[in-house]
Amino acid sequence: MLNRVLIIYTGGTIGMVQDENGSLHPFALDRIYDAVPQLKHCCYDIDSCQLDDIIDSSNMTPDFWVSIANIVEREYDNYDGFVVLHGTDTMSYTASALSFMFKNLSKPVILTGSQLPLGMLRSDGRENIICALEIASGRIAEIAEVCIFFESHLYRGNRSTKVSAENFDAFESYNYPSLAKAGINITFKEHLLLPKPTVKLEVRKRFDNRVAVLKLFPGITQAVVESVLSTPDLQGVIIETYGSGNAPTERWFLDALEHAIARGVIVFNVTQCKAGAVKMRQYAASCDMDRLGVVGGGDITIEAAVTKMMYLLGCYPGDKEHVRQRLSQPLRGEMS
Ligand code: ASP
Repeated sequence: MLNRVLIIYTGGTIGMVQDENGSLHPFALDRIYDAVPQLKHCCYDIDSCQLDDIIDSSNMTPDFWVSIANIVEREYDNYDGFVVLHGTDTMSYTASALSFMFKNLSKPVILTGSQLPLGMLRSDGRENIICALEIASGRIAEIAEVCIFFESHLYRGNRSTKVSAENFDAFESYNYPSLAKAGINITFKEHLLLPKPTVKLEVRKRFDNRVAVLKLFPGITQAVVESVLSTPDLQGVIIETYGSGNAPTERWFLDALEHAIARGVIVFNVTQCKAGAVKMRQYAASCDMDRLGVVGGGDITIEAAVTKMMYLLGCYPGDKEHVRQRLSQPLRGEMS
């Protein structure tokens, strides 16, 4: 029997075709063989389905993550792997969120998209979709994690970041090497893959989105910092700090953090640098934050940090200490 892959179409540039006037419209997924005729020759079965609403991924929300996860959960035993067609803009957030939702995932879930619509002559979508399907079919490697395939690289989803609004090579994974490279062959770095679990998949579907991201910049005012930290009902905030996790040492800044933490807000320290890690206490500029109880984010990406915080707050409502502990530990290979 042939291996089976399910395509889940969520929207984004990849699914667009041009009409006779040149305008772009989402294409009907049952016409995928017209858009990518090479798929007629592949050695696995492909089925497809789509979300009720096809969206530009700028409209992505946790509810859509749950809808995607519901499809994977429902069809888990019927397929060897899954390909999620997704807009590139928030693909790294969705890949990160799904990675946390799927505990004990033992099959590949590969997200892909494109910079040019499938229906355009020079589209990068055909190559991306064909390689993503090949990998998801499970015929060439045993992947047991959520990944992004884009322009010849397979990345761990929760390590990836969109880095270009122009190039076909639109994603990067600065703190973890790519898992595979597609050339004449698709070559996997097996030692970098997450181990395949032997226990049953668990899908956790609760997110708490009462979180904020506060990006520091020289000259940031007390009013801005205080207004973010005093957002009604705020449960967690990610501070995008400088370098290895440094922030101003001015009294007003530390007081604002201290008051927020005293009100139960979890503060997560993630660096603005694309590569490298937060090392609390390396400089005096992070010692005070450490003393106040700010949690260090190590080498996590901002996309993984936001979704991990929403996920943990959703999983353990009312148990902030547990959320703080889990935030600082790797859950699905998102931190070193
Ligand atoms: N705005 C589009 C989206 O993210 C861009 C893309 O698909 O590349 O849905």
